[in-house]
Amino acid sequence: MEEIDFAVKYPFTSQAKKLLEEVQLTDSIILKGIERIKASLESRRRQSIAIHKDEKLEEIASFAAARMALGYLRNRYITNKFAVAESKTVSSNLASETEDEFQLLSKELNIQSTNQGWLPIPLYLKNSPRSIDYKLINRNIKNGLVAVNRRELSRLMEEAVRKHIESTPMVKSIPDSMKNALEDLIKQIPRFEPQTTMSFKQGANPPCIEKLLDSLKKHENLNHQARWGLAVYLVNKGVTIENLISLYSNLPDFSEKITQYQLEHIKKKNYTMPSCATMLTYGLCCADCKIGNPLNWKNKRQV
Ligand code: SF4
Repeated sequence: MEEIDFAVKYPFTSQAKKLLEEVQLTDSIILKGIERIKASLESRRRQSIAIHKDEKLEEIASFAAARMALGYLRNRYITNKFAVAESKTVSSNLASETEDEFQLLSKELNIQSTNQGWLPIPLYLKNSPRSIDYKLINRNIKNGLVAVNRRELSRLMEEAVRKHIESTPMVKSIPDSMKNALEDLIKQIPRFEPQTTMSFKQGANPPCIEKLLDSLKKHENLNHQARWGLAVYLVNKGVTIENLISLYSNLPDFSEKITQYQLEHIKKKNYTMPSCATMLTYGLCCADCKIGNPLNWKNKRQV
């Protein structure tokens, strides 16, 4: 693959940065950058159709323009949506990548396995997703190294890209043409901003649940166990599916259709709330309430 094609697919790499040295920020690039952000807000999958060198350079530069705009906007919801969308595109590209290109990107992200399929524990911990499957207790560990297969390494790389984009530095000033384009985008934000119709009194729920609600309010991503545990808890508390969807719409990778299906499934199956011991194994317990099950929180407070 040519370097420029690699950079189009992975516009955050040093190869991309080098190519951008010969590019001036134009109105066309700014509009493409804004469009890139809009696509992520609308959960629309973007596919590059650039053929000529100039088009490819614009495509790479549109990523830089989008990050500049995000650094100026400082809106956590939009930044997180963008980070999730772009990192998922990287993950999808990686699935069909040759071994050479896969290794090239893992080197770029500084998560190259030292031996075939083994990664040093600190590197692994820095980039592993918050899922029970990736917890060290569930991993094959030897001599300070964790065994990872290509699919898992690809997931770690996706996570590294997401974190990199989420930590977009603050930008104090942007060109006027970008400000104008952003004004249009900002006008659309209310459509994308989730409306949480629920309010929870502080202390009304146990610390583990308060923490998950807090993460949702900050538009942070939650892993599968966290989403499931929170949903089972709230369904047991009588929260309606409609209100739950509204609450889960704070997630940067929110999909109304999938969320509705999963929540209705939880309600229909009448799942039992996981015990505190199970919440601990999920990595969701954050206190020692001695109540056996998060649902006993209210009971305990009434004693
Ligand atoms: S002890 Fe139970 S209720 Fe308390 S934070 Fe842990 S899981 Fe939640």
